[in-house]
Amino acid sequence: MVRAAVMTQPLQPLEVREYPDPEPAAGEVVLETLCSEVCGTDVHLYHGRLAGVPYPIIPGHVSVGRVMETAGEVLDVDGRPVERDQIVTFLDVHETCGHCWYCLVAQETTKCPHRKVYGITYPADEGLLGGWSEQILLKAGVKIVPLPEGVEVVDYIGGGCGLSTGFHAVERADIRLGDTVVVQGSGPVGLSATAFARLSGADQVIVVGAPENRLALAEAFEADHTLDINRVSPDERLEFVLGVTAGRGADVVIEVSGNPQAVVEGPDLARDGGTYVIAGQYTDAGSITINPHLQINKKHLNIRGCWGTAFTHVYRGLRLMARYRDRFRWRDLVSHTFLLEEADEALASVEKLEATKALVVPGTWRL
Ligand SMILES: [Zn+2]
Ligand SMILES: [Zn+2]
Repeated sequence: MVRAAVMTQPLQPLEVREYPDPEPAAGEVVLETLCSEVCGTDVHLYHGRLAGVPYPIIPGHVSVGRVMETAGEVLDVDGRPVERDQIVTFLDVHETCGHCWYCLVAQETTKCPHRKVYGITYPADEGLLGGWSEQILLKAGVKIVPLPEGVEVVDYIGGGCGLSTGFHAVERADIRLGDTVVVQGSGPVGLSATAFARLSGADQVIVVGAPENRLALAEAFEADHTLDINRVSPDERLEFVLGVTAGRGADVVIEVSGNPQAVVEGPDLARDGGTYVIAGQYTDAGSITINPHLQINKKHLNIRGCWGTAFTHVYRGLRLMARYRDRFRWRDLVSHTFLLEEADEALASVEKLEATKALVVPGTWRL
């Protein structure tokens, strides 16, 4: 039997349930879960703030595992066979169809209506399709990525969902060499966005967030300046950003905070003709009031939403992690680990911002 932590419905304690050993069909792969993570999205799932979630579910959308079994030959995207005992991760999004209007015409695959997400939109009664489980069944066609040489389990999971989400947000921002970039939010997405902004050739990177330990990590991830939202008022933050940009504002502002109030502030931090990427509002946290004349139209502001991630973000994010893992220590984000029985505590540690990155460790793997 395989044990898994199950979120039966919002706001209920998670239950550890037993499932039969998975029997992979042709093209499927069984992983022994080494670790999974608690993403901010899991906290939103717990509060029932994401539409269309088929509770009960096994949470955990970004995970690392050891290949136990493949049913027939399964190839990775580089065309190499996936081997038993290999340490791999995989794109949590599956069943992007490649046939619909969004996939084919708009080429916006994160908006494909057929996509399903491990740990979020697969129900627990369909099997081991979430990472808070001793084993994960990878359906045929799930995009598997072996961890590159030198990238350890803790490196990858330290980045986790934030690595590919931060990568996507920075890609949407079209940062130019020498730009000033403000990142609103200092969680795992914000820290990855800080690193990728730096690697994109930003001149100044300013991180607005809290608490202090996350801002210290932002500095380690090469932020030039950090502004603590608990100490520095919105007016002072604006004054600071204007002060380091000769009164113009930042070329690019990236919102990854999850707080709708950040979106009231963000446009003012951007220069006229600048770009504002909103990636942190993954769930509906409410409405805000902005002034469309002053904050958008007169500003000639480019506003871009950023939804989900695609395989390209995971793949290229991981390449950069392998290349720069000594310079940006994603592993340092990992602050807490929890067993399956402790899933409620794991969620609470992230909700209260005690943990920068909390891991769920279902089996025998340890940090
Ligand atoms: Zn599609
Ligand atoms: Zn996530």
